[in-house]
Amino acid sequence: MMRKLAAGNWKMNGTRESLDALQAIASAHPEPGVDILICPPATLLLQAAALSADSPLSIGAQDCHSAASGAHTGDISAPMIADAGAQAVIVGHSERRLDHHETDADVRAKAEAAHAAGLLAIICLGETLAERDAGSTLDVIGAQLEGSTPDSGDSANTVIAYEPVWAIGTGKVPDIAQIAEVHDFIRDRLTARFGSTASDIRLLYGGSVKPANAAEIFAVRNVDGALVGGASLNAADFSPIIAAL
Ligand code: PEP
Repeated sequence: MMRKLAAGNWKMNGTRESLDALQAIASAHPEPGVDILICPPATLLLQAAALSADSPLSIGAQDCHSAASGAHTGDISAPMIADAGAQAVIVGHSERRLDHHETDADVRAKAEAAHAAGLLAIICLGETLAERDAGSTLDVIGAQLEGSTPDSGDSANTVIAYEPVWAIGTGKVPDIAQIAEVHDFIRDRLTARFGSTASDIRLLYGGSVKPANAAEIFAVRNVDGALVGGASLNAADFSPIIAAL
């Protein structure tokens, strides 16, 4: 049976003292009924993975290069992330797509690299406000999904995160019908491409998830968890979100 997933994306936040939050989250959920993943910055991966080794938490990175090694100053590869003790990597976050001009093809190559290294790839999709206002949300999501998801995708190695760009870090959240429409659409498209295994591919919602709105969002059909930014930085906010799943 599918286990829901609460994933935290710390983005470019956190120094060693921030790792105290891992212990606090682990203590609050000794036997969670859902999977809990924290994606700290790369500088903390090794230590976070070591600290979480005997806990219900798993650790992920926020990005990887598509190559396993080579002349790519400043980048880290999927095998390096696995070697640090992490189990997952976020690819195609809208901040990477915008700040680093990553294309669907780039994201797909990164997801393939993640799969080759034995990592869970969390593939992010999302429309901008201009795209939503233009009525092209499903076209945009369909194209990103098709272009960013590799053929190697299955329920064990792939999670899809729907994160409307205009909802990230803004406090704005789509209404429940809008979330349901996109999640149903993603499920249908995955089923058309991958067949019955697609029913177990977890679909996360991301974008201003907070303790106050988590339960309402998690009640939406085909929402199998959340990718949480700001509210994952401390246990006081992330713990009630985990508990709401
Ligand atoms: C994110 O960065 O993936 C995210 C969803 O951020 P926030 O929860 O802060 O909107």
